[in-house]
Amino acid sequence: MPQQFASDNNAGICPPALQALVRANAEPHAPGYGEDAWTARACDRLRALFETDCAVFFVFTGTAANALSLAHICRPYDAVIAHAQAHIDNNEAGATGFFSGGAKIMIADAPLAKLTPELVERLAGKGRGFHSVRPRALSLTQATELGTVYTREELASLTATARGRGLRVHMDGARFANAVAALDCAPADISWRAGVDVLCFGGVKNGLAGGEAVVFFDRDLAREFDWRVKQAGHLNSKMRLVAAPWFALIDEGAWLANARHANAMARRLGERLSGINGLRLMVPVETNAVFVEMAPAVQARLRAKGWRFYNFLSEAGCRLICAWDTAPATVDRFADDVAEAAAPAPRASAG
Ligand SMILES: *Cc1c(COP(=O)(O)O)cnc(C)c1O
Repeated sequence: MPQQFASDNNAGICPPALQALVRANAEPHAPGYGEDAWTARACDRLRALFETDCAVFFVFTGTAANALSLAHICRPYDAVIAHAQAHIDNNEAGATGFFSGGAKIMIADAPLAKLTPELVERLAGKGRGFHSVRPRALSLTQATELGTVYTREELASLTATARGRGLRVHMDGARFANAVAALDCAPADISWRAGVDVLCFGGVKNGLAGGEAVVFFDRDLAREFDWRVKQAGHLNSKMRLVAAPWFALIDEGAWLANARHANAMARRLGERLSGINGLRLMVPVETNAVFVEMAPAVQARLRAKGWRFYNFLSEAGCRLICAWDTAPATVDRFADDVAEAAAPAPRASAG
């Protein structure tokens, strides 16, 4: 199928990651379960990237990264505070509750898929002692499910609020690279320096085949996490084949180049679409996603032409996501098709 805007996971593996996979595979044998040199190098490279001695683990999916790290923070009677759009609440089949043995997710809605300190305070204050769940973690998605980003200042005030309430801070960074690219900051600035305890750093949407990094900035919190990963069936015995692409992604700077490219393509797409009569962007384009309202009839014409994308927020709401490999020509072809589909039908000529 040609390039689409359905999700950044529709794209394949980026060349540096694929070449590293081939290189790692060419070595005759290597120790299993992450006790190999590639895994050591990938973890070292991530520690250098984050400028701190963090503990790094690789699991297969973002869902596992989120659920296992939150389960490691929460007792079965605890709760995670998150935004109403949070992937952990809407798209993970209850994994956090399952792996924690019962933890609940408490949600609040706010514009642009961004929580505010006031909302965190309100949710954290809902506890009634042992009669209700105990708020124990704040989960922030960066970039958010609407492609927006929390600034450093916003993160600092959210995490300060969390600390004041005794909450640990988890970050769902399935698109963390896109946020770093958008904010043009150091990865540390919007993670541990902004008060984040554990980051689920997404590699798949950024250009890997599989394997997300769970990065604990608080090493105490990481204790026994290897047991949790193993018990959940997320300890890869051929870890080097996940670690080698990760190493290359970071070492060659592809993680940031890929994210910058995807963001630039979304910017281009947003600009093209907002110039089309009758179209309205629903959210400012800050990373690699464009949310636009299109009449169902317009959407149907585009789908009939073979375009694939998801509805979001409403019947008219369309989510368009750019990936590391989205070609400018794909953006232009789609925008041309949208313009054509949205144009008023030509009047039948009166014979
Ligand atoms: C894609 C995504 C994930 C991870 O999803 P998996 O399919 O489990 O890898 C997590 N959080 C957000 C916000 C995502 O978009």
